[in-house]
Amino acid sequence: GQDNKKLGIALVGLGSYSEGQLAPGLVNAEHCYLAGIVTGTPAKEKEWMERYDIPKANVYNYENFDSIAENDAIDIVYVVLPNSMHAEFCIRAAKAGKHVICEKPMAVSVAECDAIIEACEHANVKLSVGYRMQSDPFTNEVKRLVKEKTFGDVTYVSSDASYISRGNPDQWRLNRALSGGGALLNMGVYAIQSNIYGTGTNPISVSAQEFSTRPDYFKETDETIMAQMKFPNGAVGQLCTSHNARGNRLYVSCTDGWIELNPCHSYGPLAGRTSDGNKISFPHKSQQMLQMDDFAQHIKTGSTNFAPGEMGKRDMIIVEAIYQSIREGGKTIPL
Ligand code: NDP
Repeated sequence: GQDNKKLGIALVGLGSYSEGQLAPGLVNAEHCYLAGIVTGTPAKEKEWMERYDIPKANVYNYENFDSIAENDAIDIVYVVLPNSMHAEFCIRAAKAGKHVICEKPMAVSVAECDAIIEACEHANVKLSVGYRMQSDPFTNEVKRLVKEKTFGDVTYVSSDASYISRGNPDQWRLNRALSGGGALLNMGVYAIQSNIYGTGTNPISVSAQEFSTRPDYFKETDETIMAQMKFPNGAVGQLCTSHNARGNRLYVSCTDGWIELNPCHSYGPLAGRTSDGNKISFPHKSQQMLQMDDFAQHIKTGSTNFAPGEMGKRDMIIVEAIYQSIREGGKTIPL
């Protein structure tokens, strides 16, 4: 049944993330629920309607999607499509008067991020990016330890966000027109975020290198990228993101100790430890549930938006600077 206090979410694009993480996360959410779906695959309509008790009136395809404007049961549109489709559907959602969650990476260029932000401002709707880590208690514990200088000042941070891709060579993640890029746009944005919350500040410059060892498989998208950053507080950072490595870690070196999360970027349960011998641990909860509940509360009460559009744009500015550095032979790019 529908709880009036819960905001209705419509998922756009019923692929593996919607099916495996977002819809299950919504089952136990407190402030929102799965109210509708937008899919280009007719066979999924009936299956999802039955599984999640979704009325036919809340089912859309990519052509009739704009008529969602007339549907009061939908408060939030969550765009979970291939990266190059994010901007179009976020802008259409905003024009329909719906609050927007845009999956990461926010878009495939800074210009597209600007267009999404502007459309949401113009329509007076709220916008957030699907950065589930920003609602995760482990991430927030690192932020707290850094902010309170529990182990002194941060001098160095290192993060890895990688997995080995061996699947179908025709998948959209390997197709530049749909993905906008490879490892950097996929897991790389998480490594960028970890460097930033690991130091508690945005970088002031970046340099980067790209490595390719399986060019027959990674024909048009980056396989492995390493990048180095400088931060205004004197800290330095590095990251590795790859579709040909295993990496899921954050290490923060401070003047009097260190903080580590490993695993760091996966769906949890995560694990962490600090140089004083303590473990970082929290009861496991769905990150996606926490993320969507945080955004629903932001809409309802004006509480903090932990992953606003500006954050997605900031990360895309860094992504573009990393690609620029690679094109220019590893040159340091000021941010
Ligand atoms: P999938 O390939 O599993 O699903 C994408 C879905 O998009 C498809 O099932 C399809 O849904 C729809 N779609 C519409 N047009 C196309 C097209 N031309 N090619 C392929 N699919 C199309 O991708 P994911 O679910 O893994 O990823 C979707 C988005 O979510 C990406 O932006 C990704 O970066 C992000 N993501 C974020 C994660 C996170 O940790 N925050 C984790 C995983 C993904 P339909 O059949 O309903 O039309």
